Amino acid sequence: MTEDEAPGRPPTRAHIEAHGSGSGGAGGGSQSAEISTRLNWLRAGVLGANDGIISTAGLVVGVAGATTSRSVIFAAGIAGLLAGALSMAAGEYVSVSSQRDSERAALDLERRELAEEPEAELDELTDMLAARGLSRDLAREAAEQLTERDALRAHARVELGINPDELANPWHAALASLVAFTVGALLPLLAIILPGPSARVPVTVVAVLVALTLCGVVSARLGRAPAGRAVLRNVGGGALAMAVTYAVGTWLGAAG
Ligand SMILES: [Zn+2]
Repeated sequence: MTEDEAPGRPPTRAHIEAHGSGSGGAGGGSQSAEISTRLNWLRAGVLGANDGIISTAGLVVGVAGATTSRSVIFAAGIAGLLAGALSMAAGEYVSVSSQRDSERAALDLERRELAEEPEAELDELTDMLAARGLSRDLAREAAEQLTERDALRAHARVELGINPDELANPWHAALASLVAFTVGALLPLLAIILPGPSARVPVTVVAVLVALTLCGVVSARLGRAPAGRAVLRNVGGGALAMAVTYAVGTWLGAAG
Protein backbone atom coordinates (compact mmCIF):
# COMPACT_ATOMS: atom_id res chain seq x y z
CA MET A 1 0.00 0.00 0.00
CA THR A 2 2.93 2.33 0.19
CA GLU A 3 3.54 3.95 -3.12
CA ASP A 4 6.04 6.54 -1.91
CA GLU A 5 8.89 4.11 -1.58
CA ALA A 6 9.35 1.32 -4.04
CA PRO A 7 10.92 -1.71 -2.40
CA GLY A 8 12.67 -1.96 -5.70
CA ARG A 9 15.74 -1.59 -7.74
CA PRO A 10 18.37 0.21 -5.73
CA PRO A 11 20.34 -1.96 -3.34
CA THR A 12 19.26 -2.14 0.25
CA ARG A 13 21.70 0.46 1.37
CA ALA A 14 20.33 2.89 -1.17
CA HIS A 15 16.82 1.92 -0.23
CA ILE A 16 17.44 2.60 3.43
CA GLU A 17 19.17 5.86 2.69
CA ALA A 18 16.54 6.86 0.17
CA HIS A 19 13.97 7.16 2.95
CA GLY A 20 15.39 10.52 3.80
CA SER A 21 15.21 11.85 0.29
CA GLY A 22 11.66 10.74 -0.37
CA SER A 23 12.43 9.16 -3.69
CA GLY A 24 11.66 5.78 -5.12
CA GLY A 25 10.88 3.86 -8.24
CA ALA A 26 7.11 3.92 -8.00
CA GLY A 27 4.60 6.11 -9.65
CA GLY A 28 4.01 4.66 -13.08
CA GLY A 29 7.58 4.66 -14.35
CA SER A 30 7.89 8.38 -14.82
CA GLN A 31 11.22 9.63 -15.99
CA SER A 32 11.94 11.30 -12.68
CA ALA A 33 11.45 7.96 -10.93
CA GLU A 34 14.01 6.37 -13.25
CA ILE A 35 16.43 9.19 -12.55
CA SER A 36 15.96 8.97 -8.81
CA THR A 37 16.54 5.22 -9.01
CA ARG A 38 19.83 5.92 -10.75
CA LEU A 39 20.74 8.55 -8.17
CA ASN A 40 19.99 6.04 -5.42
CA TRP A 41 22.40 3.59 -6.99
CA LEU A 42 25.02 6.28 -7.26
CA ARG A 43 24.47 7.32 -3.68
CA ALA A 44 24.73 3.70 -2.54
CA GLY A 45 28.03 3.52 -4.40
CA VAL A 46 29.36 6.60 -2.64
CA LEU A 47 28.26 5.23 0.74
CA GLY A 48 29.87 1.86 -0.02
CA ALA A 49 33.12 3.60 -0.92
CA ASN A 50 32.82 5.61 2.29
CA ASP A 51 32.61 2.36 4.28
CA GLY A 52 35.65 1.03 2.43
CA ILE A 53 37.63 4.17 3.25
CA ILE A 54 36.81 4.23 6.96
CA SER A 55 37.17 0.55 7.68
CA THR A 56 40.43 0.12 5.76
CA ALA A 57 41.88 3.40 7.09
CA GLY A 58 41.18 2.31 10.66
CA LEU A 59 42.79 -1.04 9.98
CA VAL A 60 46.00 0.13 8.29
CA VAL A 61 46.55 3.07 10.65
CA GLY A 62 46.14 0.69 13.59
CA VAL A 63 48.65 -1.77 12.16
CA ALA A 64 51.01 1.10 11.32
CA GLY A 65 50.83 2.08 14.98
CA ALA A 66 52.14 -1.35 15.90
CA THR A 67 54.76 -1.95 13.21
CA THR A 68 56.85 -0.14 10.60
CA SER A 69 56.98 -3.21 8.36
CA ARG A 70 55.51 -2.21 5.02
CA SER A 71 54.77 -5.81 4.02
CA VAL A 72 52.84 -6.45 7.24
CA ILE A 73 50.82 -3.26 6.81
CA PHE A 74 50.16 -4.14 3.16
CA ALA A 75 49.09 -7.71 3.96
CA ALA A 76 46.75 -6.49 6.69
CA GLY A 77 45.30 -3.85 4.35
CA ILE A 78 44.69 -6.35 1.55
CA ALA A 79 43.10 -8.83 3.95
CA GLY A 80 40.90 -6.07 5.32
CA LEU A 81 39.93 -4.92 1.83
CA LEU A 82 38.95 -8.44 0.73
CA ALA A 83 37.15 -9.29 3.93
CA GLY A 84 35.24 -6.03 3.90
CA ALA A 85 34.33 -6.15 0.20
CA LEU A 86 33.20 -9.78 0.39
CA SER A 87 31.20 -9.29 3.55
CA MET A 88 29.46 -6.24 2.07
CA ALA A 89 28.71 -8.19 -1.11
CA ALA A 90 27.41 -11.20 0.80
CA GLY A 91 25.27 -9.03 3.06
CA GLU A 92 23.84 -7.19 0.08
CA TYR A 93 23.17 -10.45 -1.76
CA VAL A 94 21.27 -11.91 1.18
CA SER A 95 19.26 -8.81 1.85
CA VAL A 96 18.33 -8.09 -1.78
CA SER A 97 17.47 -11.77 -2.30
CA SER A 98 14.95 -11.72 0.49
CA GLN A 99 13.64 -8.40 -0.77
CA ARG A 100 13.13 -9.98 -4.19
CA ASP A 101 11.47 -13.04 -2.62
CA SER A 102 8.96 -10.84 -0.86
CA GLU A 103 8.34 -8.85 -4.05
CA ARG A 104 7.67 -12.08 -5.94
CA ALA A 105 5.36 -13.31 -3.21
CA ALA A 106 3.46 -10.01 -3.32
CA LEU A 107 3.12 -10.30 -7.12
CA ASP A 108 1.88 -13.90 -6.82
CA LEU A 109 -0.72 -12.85 -4.32
CA GLU A 110 -1.80 -9.97 -6.55
CA ARG A 111 -2.06 -12.32 -9.53
CA ARG A 112 -4.30 -14.67 -7.53
CA GLU A 113 -6.50 -11.83 -6.33
CA LEU A 114 -6.88 -10.52 -9.87
CA ALA A 115 -7.94 -13.96 -11.08
CA GLU A 116 -10.34 -14.62 -8.22
CA GLU A 117 -11.99 -11.26 -7.67
CA PRO A 118 -11.35 -8.93 -10.59
CA GLU A 119 -14.23 -6.59 -9.62
CA ALA A 120 -12.89 -5.95 -6.12
CA GLU A 121 -9.44 -5.39 -7.59
CA LEU A 122 -10.81 -2.86 -10.06
CA ASP A 123 -12.47 -1.00 -7.18
CA GLU A 124 -9.23 -1.13 -5.25
CA LEU A 125 -7.25 0.32 -8.13
CA THR A 126 -9.88 3.03 -8.58
CA ASP A 127 -9.63 3.95 -4.88
CA MET A 128 -5.86 4.15 -5.04
CA LEU A 129 -5.90 6.37 -8.11
CA ALA A 130 -8.55 8.57 -6.52
CA ALA A 131 -6.40 8.81 -3.39
CA ARG A 132 -3.64 10.15 -5.57
CA GLY A 133 -5.81 13.04 -6.60
CA LEU A 134 -7.87 11.93 -9.60
CA SER A 135 -11.59 12.61 -9.56
CA ARG A 136 -13.78 9.57 -8.93
CA ASP A 137 -14.90 9.25 -12.57
CA LEU A 138 -11.46 9.79 -14.00
CA ALA A 139 -9.96 7.31 -11.52
CA ARG A 140 -12.54 4.75 -12.61
CA GLU A 141 -11.79 5.28 -16.27
CA ALA A 142 -8.04 5.17 -15.71
CA ALA A 143 -8.38 2.00 -13.63
CA GLU A 144 -10.42 0.34 -16.36
CA GLN A 145 -7.92 1.23 -19.06
CA LEU A 146 -4.93 0.14 -16.98
CA THR A 147 -6.67 -3.12 -16.12
CA GLU A 148 -7.48 -3.78 -19.75
CA ARG A 149 -3.92 -3.23 -20.84
CA ASP A 150 -2.09 -5.10 -18.06
CA ALA A 151 -3.87 -5.51 -14.77
CA LEU A 152 -0.99 -7.12 -12.90
CA ARG A 153 1.47 -4.43 -13.95
CA ALA A 154 -0.96 -1.69 -12.92
CA HIS A 155 -1.48 -3.21 -9.47
CA ALA A 156 2.22 -3.90 -9.08
CA ARG A 157 3.12 -0.31 -9.76
CA VAL A 158 0.27 1.55 -8.11
CA GLU A 159 -0.37 -0.72 -5.15
CA LEU A 160 3.02 -2.33 -4.46
CA GLY A 161 5.38 0.20 -5.99
CA ILE A 162 7.09 -2.59 -7.93
CA ASN A 163 7.99 -2.70 -11.59
CA PRO A 164 7.52 -6.43 -12.33
CA ASP A 165 10.09 -6.29 -15.13
CA GLU A 166 12.78 -4.83 -12.92
CA LEU A 167 12.86 -6.74 -9.67
CA ALA A 168 15.98 -6.03 -7.66
CA ASN A 169 18.84 -8.25 -8.78
CA PRO A 170 20.86 -9.63 -5.83
CA TRP A 171 23.93 -10.25 -8.01
CA HIS A 172 23.97 -6.70 -9.29
CA ALA A 173 23.59 -5.36 -5.79
CA ALA A 174 26.36 -7.63 -4.49
CA LEU A 175 28.74 -6.68 -7.29
CA ALA A 176 28.01 -2.97 -6.83
CA SER A 177 28.82 -3.15 -3.10
CA LEU A 178 31.96 -5.13 -3.76
CA VAL A 179 33.25 -2.63 -6.30
CA ALA A 180 32.27 0.43 -4.25
CA PHE A 181 33.92 -0.86 -1.08
CA THR A 182 37.08 -1.85 -2.97
CA VAL A 183 37.42 1.54 -4.66
CA GLY A 184 37.10 3.24 -1.27
CA ALA A 185 39.51 0.83 0.44
CA LEU A 186 42.24 1.38 -2.16
CA LEU A 187 42.70 5.00 -1.08
CA PRO A 188 43.94 4.42 2.51
CA LEU A 189 45.80 1.31 1.36
CA LEU A 190 47.83 3.30 -1.20
CA ALA A 191 48.22 6.25 1.15
CA ILE A 192 49.77 4.06 3.82
CA ILE A 193 52.15 1.98 1.70
CA LEU A 194 53.51 4.61 -0.71
CA PRO A 195 55.16 7.13 1.69
CA GLY A 196 58.12 6.41 3.95
CA PRO A 197 57.56 5.18 7.52
CA SER A 198 57.40 8.57 9.26
CA ALA A 199 54.98 10.09 6.73
CA ARG A 200 52.65 7.08 6.47
CA VAL A 201 50.11 7.89 9.14
CA PRO A 202 49.91 11.68 8.54
CA VAL A 203 49.53 11.19 4.76
CA THR A 204 46.83 8.59 5.28
CA VAL A 205 44.93 10.70 7.80
CA VAL A 206 44.91 13.74 5.49
CA ALA A 207 43.96 11.71 2.40
CA VAL A 208 41.17 9.96 4.28
CA LEU A 209 39.71 13.11 5.79
CA VAL A 210 39.71 14.83 2.39
CA ALA A 211 38.07 11.80 0.75
CA LEU A 212 35.45 11.54 3.50
CA THR A 213 34.65 15.22 3.05
CA LEU A 214 34.11 14.63 -0.68
CA CYS A 215 31.99 11.54 -0.08
CA GLY A 216 29.90 13.42 2.46
CA VAL A 217 29.30 16.34 0.12
CA VAL A 218 28.46 14.16 -2.89
CA SER A 219 26.18 11.90 -0.89
CA ALA A 220 24.34 14.84 0.65
CA ARG A 221 23.93 16.43 -2.80
CA LEU A 222 22.57 13.20 -4.25
CA GLY A 223 20.16 12.90 -1.34
CA ARG A 224 19.22 16.59 -1.68
CA ALA A 225 20.17 17.12 1.96
CA PRO A 226 22.22 20.00 3.36
CA ALA A 227 25.87 18.98 3.41
CA GLY A 228 27.32 20.75 6.49
CA ARG A 229 26.49 18.51 9.42
CA ALA A 230 26.45 15.31 7.41
CA VAL A 231 30.01 16.01 6.28
CA LEU A 232 31.15 16.83 9.80
CA ARG A 233 29.64 13.59 11.12
CA ASN A 234 31.27 11.59 8.36
CA VAL A 235 34.70 13.15 8.80
CA GLY A 236 34.38 12.95 12.59
CA GLY A 237 33.51 9.26 12.41
CA GLY A 238 36.51 8.52 10.22
CA ALA A 239 38.86 10.54 12.42
CA LEU A 240 37.60 8.77 15.52
CA ALA A 241 38.04 5.34 13.92
CA MET A 242 41.66 6.12 13.00
CA ALA A 243 42.42 7.67 16.40
CA VAL A 244 41.12 4.61 18.25
CA THR A 245 42.88 2.02 16.11
CA TYR A 246 46.12 4.01 16.05
CA ALA A 247 46.09 4.31 19.84
CA VAL A 248 45.37 0.60 20.29
CA GLY A 249 47.93 -0.36 17.62
CA THR A 250 50.62 1.79 19.20
CA TRP A 251 49.87 0.37 22.62
CA LEU A 252 49.95 -3.23 21.36
CA GLY A 253 53.15 -2.53 19.39
CA ALA A 254 54.85 -1.11 22.49
CA ALA A 255 53.60 -3.99 24.65
CA GLY A 256 54.77 -6.63 22.17
ZN1 LIG B 1 -4.55 -5.20 -6.15
